[in-house]
Amino acid sequence: MAKKSEKDVVGKATEVTVKATEKADKGKAAGEKYVFLFGGEGTEGDASMKNSLGGKGANLAEMSRLGLPVPAGFTITTECCNAYFALGGQFPEGLKKQVMTALAEVERLMGRKYGDAENPLLVSCRSGARQSMPGMMDTVLNIGLSTTTIPGLIAKTNNERFVWDSYRRLIMMYADVVMEKAEGIEPYDGKGIRRILDEMLDQYKYIKDCKADTDLTAEDLKTLAHAFKRRIKEVLGTEFPDDPMQQLWGGIGAVFKSWVGKKAVSYRRIEGIPENWGTAVNVQTMVFGNMGDSSATGVAFTRNPATGQNLFFGEWLLNAQGEDVVAGIRTPSPLNNATKTDQNRDMKSMEDMMPATYKELDAIRLRLEKHYRDMQDIEFTVEEGKLYMLQCRTGKRGGKAAVTMALDMLDDGLINETDAVLRVNPNQVMEFLLPIIEPKLEAKSQWLLKGLPAGPGSACGEIVFTSADVVRATRMGKKVILVREETNPEDVEGMRDAVGVLTARGGMTSHAALVARGWGKSCIVGASEMQVDAPNKTLKVGDKTLREGALITMNGSAGTVYEGALRLVEPTAGEDYAEFLRFMSIVDKLRTMGVRANADTAVDARKARSFGAEGIGLFRMEHMFYGEGSAKPLFLLRKMILCITVADRVAVLKELFPYMKNDIKGTMEAMDEFPVTIRLLDPPLHEFLPHSQLGRLELSKALGIAEDEVRKRVDALQENNPMMGHRGVRLSVTYPEMTEYQARAIFESAAELIRDGKKVIPEIMVPITCDVRELRHTKEIVERVYAEVVRRFDLKKLKYKLGTMIEIPRAALLADQMAADAEFFSFGTNDLTQLTFGFSRDDIGSFMSAYLDQRILAADPFQTIDQSGVGALIEMATLKGRAVRPDLKVGICGEQGGDPASVEFCYKTGLTYVSCSAFRVPVARVAAAQAAIKAAKQ
Ligand code: PEP
Ligand code: MG
Repeated sequence: MAKKSEKDVVGKATEVTVKATEKADKGKAAGEKYVFLFGGEGTEGDASMKNSLGGKGANLAEMSRLGLPVPAGFTITTECCNAYFALGGQFPEGLKKQVMTALAEVERLMGRKYGDAENPLLVSCRSGARQSMPGMMDTVLNIGLSTTTIPGLIAKTNNERFVWDSYRRLIMMYADVVMEKAEGIEPYDGKGIRRILDEMLDQYKYIKDCKADTDLTAEDLKTLAHAFKRRIKEVLGTEFPDDPMQQLWGGIGAVFKSWVGKKAVSYRRIEGIPENWGTAVNVQTMVFGNMGDSSATGVAFTRNPATGQNLFFGEWLLNAQGEDVVAGIRTPSPLNNATKTDQNRDMKSMEDMMPATYKELDAIRLRLEKHYRDMQDIEFTVEEGKLYMLQCRTGKRGGKAAVTMALDMLDDGLINETDAVLRVNPNQVMEFLLPIIEPKLEAKSQWLLKGLPAGPGSACGEIVFTSADVVRATRMGKKVILVREETNPEDVEGMRDAVGVLTARGGMTSHAALVARGWGKSCIVGASEMQVDAPNKTLKVGDKTLREGALITMNGSAGTVYEGALRLVEPTAGEDYAEFLRFMSIVDKLRTMGVRANADTAVDARKARSFGAEGIGLFRMEHMFYGEGSAKPLFLLRKMILCITVADRVAVLKELFPYMKNDIKGTMEAMDEFPVTIRLLDPPLHEFLPHSQLGRLELSKALGIAEDEVRKRVDALQENNPMMGHRGVRLSVTYPEMTEYQARAIFESAAELIRDGKKVIPEIMVPITCDVRELRHTKEIVERVYAEVVRRFDLKKLKYKLGTMIEIPRAALLADQMAADAEFFSFGTNDLTQLTFGFSRDDIGSFMSAYLDQRILAADPFQTIDQSGVGALIEMATLKGRAVRPDLKVGICGEQGGDPASVEFCYKTGLTYVSCSAFRVPVARVAAAQAAIKAAKQ
C-alpha cells in the first residue's frame, strides 16, 4: 500500500503561486474567460495567444483557422491553472459552466455526445505551456470510456478489440497520472502503479505466448482491464472511476498538477522557465490511430531537426496511438523514402503504405511552413483513412540545424537577416565548437553499435545506467554517458549532467531526443542491437558485455558508438564550420556591443581570436602559476610570498620577470591591433602557500632558512577570510615593488612588439579596489615605470590606459570618484556577486541548490547576473562613472559575461563590451546581436 508523500503536491504548488492569488481573485470578479473553443468555425483563439492558451492550444486554434482538419476541442487557460493553485487545488468559480458550454459545442461539431451510451464522444486531456516542455507534463487519453459507453462504441466501430485496447490504455494512464502522481502518492519501493500494470501486461503476454501488444485479443484486453482495476484498488486504495464526468475533471486537475511534478520542476529550472507561467489544458476529441491497418499515428518535422536539411522528416506507426511514438516504446518507421537511413532502410514508409494520405500531409507541411515561416513540429493521426492534425508548434532543433535552416530560409526569402539571427539560441552555437572524433582515427575504427543520430557532437565517457548514477558520478568529476533501454523524461537531470545519452529504443522524435538536441548534447537513440540490463548495470552487443564504468566514445552526428576512448578534436574543418562562419558574419553586422575574451596565454588568445574575440577583457597575471609550465614560476611566487625584506622580494621579482613577460608578450602579439586588458596580480594567497613538507623543504633551501622558519612564515600568512584578505590592489599598497615589476613587464613587452611593427593596445587593470586613493597609489607607480620604459626604448608611440575592476560594492557606490582616475571600468561580477550577496564564491556548493530548489533564488547569481541587486550596482556605477568621464569604457569580465541573459542586460545597460571564456565568445556575439535587434524592435 502506498502512502501520501509528506509534501502534498497541491500544498507545494500553493506555496509557489501565492502571488497568483490576487490576480485570480481579480479574474473571478471580472468573470474571466477561462475556456476557448477550437476546431470549427467558432474557433476563439489564435497563435498570438500563447501566454494564455499555451503553445499547443494557440496553435490548435491557428490550424483550425487555417481550415486544417483539427478534431474539435477547447483549451482551459494558464490563468485558470494559476487560479487553481491559488485556491489550494480548487477549480475557480465559473469554470464548470464554461467547460460544459464548450463541451456541448464540441459535441455538436463532432456529432457525438460525451458519456452517451450509443454514440459516445471520447476526449484527451493534454498539457501545453507557453514554451514547449516535451514530455515533462502529463496527458490522459481516451477519457470518457466507461461501462456505459463501451458497448455503444463497440457497436458503432464494430471493433471490439480496439475499444478494449483503448480502455486498458485509459486505465493505465489514468491510474498513473490522475490517481497516483496528481495525488502526490510516492510508492514505497519506487515502483509506481504504471510499472505494476506494465508488468501485469508483460506477464499476461508471456502466459498467452504473445510477442506484441497487437497479438492480444479483445477478450484478453477485457480480462486485463478488469484485472488492472482490481489491482489499482489494492495498491492505491481507490476505485478507478466509471463516471465519464469524474474522469474528465480528474484529467483536467491532474494536468494542472503536473505543472508542479518533479520532471516539470527540474526542466523549468534548467531551462529558466518561470514558475508562474502555468500550463493550459487542452481537452480535445479523440481520434484513433489504433483502429486497424487503415489507421496510423505519427510525429514529423517540416525539416530535419538534427541536420536542418529541407526534407519532410518524421516517423510513424501503423495501428498505434501517439504515445507509442513519443514515449519511445516502439521504434517507429520513417515517414518517407528520402529520409531513410541504414538503420531503417527495410522499414515501410508512410509514403509507400498510404500514398494519398502522405501527399495530403505533405501539402499541409508546406502550408504550415509558409504560414509560420519556421520549421514546425507536428503530430497527426490517421483514423480509418482520414487525416487529423493534433499538434503543430515551432520545432526544437539542434544548433547546427538551427543555423542551416535560418540560412536556407534567408536564401529562400522566407525571412530576413534579423529573423535569421533571432532563430538561433545563442547557447546553441557552442555546437559548432563541439569536439569531433579525430577523423583519421575514426575512419580506421570499427564501430560497436549504430543508432539514430539524435544529438550532435562527440562524447567520450564511462557508461552508467541510471540518472541518479550520472548525477553521483559527475559530482565526483567523472565524465559519463547515460545508457538507457528507452527514452524517458524522468531522466532529465541525468541527461543534463551526462556528456552523452545512448538508448536502445525510441526514434528521432522521442522526448529524450528532443530534449538532448535542445541542449546540444551528443545523443544516439534506437541503437537496437544493444541489450540494456539496468539492474545489473551491463549492456550487451552480440557476445560482448560492457559493465558500468566501461569507456565508450559516441559520434552523435553519425549515430556510431565505439568501444574505448577515441581522441576528440576541435571541429574547425568542414562544411558545417563554413556555414557557422557565414551565420556569424551576419550576426556581427547586426551587433553593436563589443565581445572580448578572458585569456592568459598566447594559445588561448589565438583561439579566442579565431572565435571572434575583439580583444582580451581579462588577462589574469596569476594564471602563469597554474597549469602547464607553471612549476618554476609557482616556486618563485611562493618564495616571494615568504620574503620578509624588500630587497629579497625584488631579487625574486627579477627571477619572475621573464615568465611574466613571456605570457604578456605572447598574448599581446596574438591580439595584434586589439586591446589587451592585463589585470595586476590578484592571487588569493591561501591557494599558493606550500602545504607539503617537500614544498617547505625546497623553500627553506632556496631562502636559506630553517624549515621551521618557513612553517612559521606560512602560518603567519594564513587568513580567516582569504577572499577578503591580502589580495588585489592591497598587495600593491603593501608591496609596491610587485606592481613596479608587472608594469615593467607590460611596457617592455609592448615596446618590443611596437618595435617589431605590431599594434598593441595595453590596458592595465587594478583589481579589488574600494577607494580611489588605492587606484592613485598604483597609478603613480605605473606612470613612473612607463616614463622609464619610454625613455629607455625612445618610443613615444607607446600608449596605454589604466582602469579598475569594480568588484566591491563600495567601488560601485563611489564610481564617480573612481572614474576621476580610471579610464575604464570592468565589472568583476564574480567578486561583485560574492560581496553583494555575502555568499562566498568558493562555498556556495553547500547551499545554492537548496536556494534554487526552494525558489528563494530563481537562478545561480554566479552564472547569470542578479539583475535586481548586482545589476542595480552595475547600472548605477556606469551612470556615475560616465557622468564624470563621458567616454569611460565599461565592460564585464566575470563568468556571467558569456551568459546570454547577462549579455542582454549588459547591452541594455550600455556597456562597451562583455568578456568571457574563449568558447563562449560566439555565444556572446549572438546574444549581443539579438539584444540589439530586440531593442530596435521595441
Ligand atoms: C571577478 O571577480 O569577476 C573576476 C573576473 O576576477 P576573479 O574571478 O579573478 O576574482
Ligand atoms: Mg575578482
